[in-house]
Amino acid sequence: MAETILIIEDEPKVARLARDYLEKNNYRVLIANDGKSGLATARGEKPDLLVLDLLLPEMDGLDVCRALRRESDIPIIMLTARAEETDRLIGLELGADDYITKPFSPRELVARVRALLRRAKGRVYQSGIIRVGDLELNTESHTLNLAGEDIHLTRIEFNLLETMARHPGQIFSRAQLLENLHGVAYLGYDRSIDAHIKNLRRKIENDPAEPKYILTVYGVGYKFGGQ
Ligand code: CA
Repeated sequence: MAETILIIEDEPKVARLARDYLEKNNYRVLIANDGKSGLATARGEKPDLLVLDLLLPEMDGLDVCRALRRESDIPIIMLTARAEETDRLIGLELGADDYITKPFSPRELVARVRALLRRAKGRVYQSGIIRVGDLELNTESHTLNLAGEDIHLTRIEFNLLETMARHPGQIFSRAQLLENLHGVAYLGYDRSIDAHIKNLRRKIENDPAEPKYILTVYGVGYKFGGQ
């Protein structure tokens, strides 16, 4: 069965262009023109993925994102204008999975949709073990094995790695990573995350200068590659 994509976008031209390309790629597409009806459609139709514009009449994209995240795991791609960088960061912190800056190429949108749907399926992991490439994280014993060798990580390093490895490809802001360090006695500020990431890379990357697991997303934060 075709996967359903809901586009919430108030500019008809943009919505139509996105719909045409997605339909050509065998997705079923629904369109809502404002935040309020978009939220209702998301709840009623339970689409597989949401393409969400940030500036919307009735209820803005951030509020839609916030409301949906409280009740579902639906993958969300935000559409933002270049000038909306702060909103984009807020969106990612509210749990959006990815963003595309307008004007965007519809081909790029289709590629992101496809990648995100694939990732969303990979979110399931069994028996407390997360395996990515040569990495094996045991989330119960908090141990890391790299290509057969046990690697010692501090609790903070393990927590950072686990948080990102659970959602490969998802972008995490420093503030988000910091917030995820719950349970770990830790007083820090956003940028202090960088020092831990540096140590982590030294321990798990073949070449810390060319990381393949923990990637920097310029101006935003980090994401886990390795897939
Ligand atoms: Ca708009």
